[in-house]
Amino acid sequence: MTAPVLTTCGRCGAELAPGVLTCLSCGALVHTARLRELAQAAASAESAGDVSKALGAWREALTLLPPETQQYHTIVSKIAALSSRVHSGEARPPWWKRVSSLGPLGVVAAGLGKAKFLLLGFGKLGTLLSFLATFGVYWTLWGWKFALCFLLSIYIHEMGHVAALSRYGVPATAPTFIPGFGALIRLKQHPASAIEDARVGLAGPIWGLGAGLLWFGLYVVTGQPFWVAMMHATAWLNLFNLIPVWQLDGSRGTRSLDRTQTALLAAVAGLAWLVSREGMLIILALALAYRAYSKHDDTEPDWNGCGQFAGLIAALTLLSMLPL
Ligand SMILES: [Zn+2]
Ligand SMILES: [Zn+2]
Repeated sequence: MTAPVLTTCGRCGAELAPGVLTCLSCGALVHTARLRELAQAAASAESAGDVSKALGAWREALTLLPPETQQYHTIVSKIAALSSRVHSGEARPPWWKRVSSLGPLGVVAAGLGKAKFLLLGFGKLGTLLSFLATFGVYWTLWGWKFALCFLLSIYIHEMGHVAALSRYGVPATAPTFIPGFGALIRLKQHPASAIEDARVGLAGPIWGLGAGLLWFGLYVVTGQPFWVAMMHATAWLNLFNLIPVWQLDGSRGTRSLDRTQTALLAAVAGLAWLVSREGMLIILALALAYRAYSKHDDTEPDWNGCGQFAGLIAALTLLSMLPL
């Protein structure tokens, strides 16, 4: 649901220019009614323990308020508090507790829920059409089987970002595929803090790692070397995405880290290269070292984010070396 388009001020009846948030004649807020609804929705979501839904309502409210108002600042601090509950894991019990509280049937239902979420993007016509177009291009390059599985790897990676965004209540589009490039999701709003941005950025490679493990499982079961090639391509793709340049995930992943932590990651990548001789790791190590050198906006140290990043480098490197 979005805010209705209002053409006259509810208080003084003056005509409103499109897109204004306050009435120019009397100074009243234009979207008072919708803001009240959103505040109620956020309060009831929060008391029901649904932090993501509460965040979504507050984020929408923010788009309806002028930044210089008191309410705007109040909501910004509410969002910061709720958001830190998401990344401290307080909003969600750890996975083993969630699994054990579900029971066997619940686990099956949750699995189906995850599968349904993964398929969700394909329900969008744009995603499906761009997937088919990109598939056509890759098919002529690599054959249909490799093209299809590689695109699935990209898709799973992108859905990792979508899942993390929805945990933070940030609306996003389903992925759109671009031949020769990968896929993109467009954000309708942006993550508010460096930590949110970092968690959303690394969620893609984390799910991408999951795709790689899936290909490894298929190799173990079938013994076909095709799945090893698939697994290596997936590891390579996700290591590439960790490079902290341009709009790549690594840029967002290092946003919440300070100099020391970024330098530490450069060392981890260098070590991973020594062990595996995977060329992508040299580029990653150098880019991280440069990033550490050029960083001066030191944020509060985010050791969880640093651990996630380091774990990803190690796990993806291992994936690029399997079977040992
Ligand atoms: Zn007015
Ligand atoms: Zn990504």
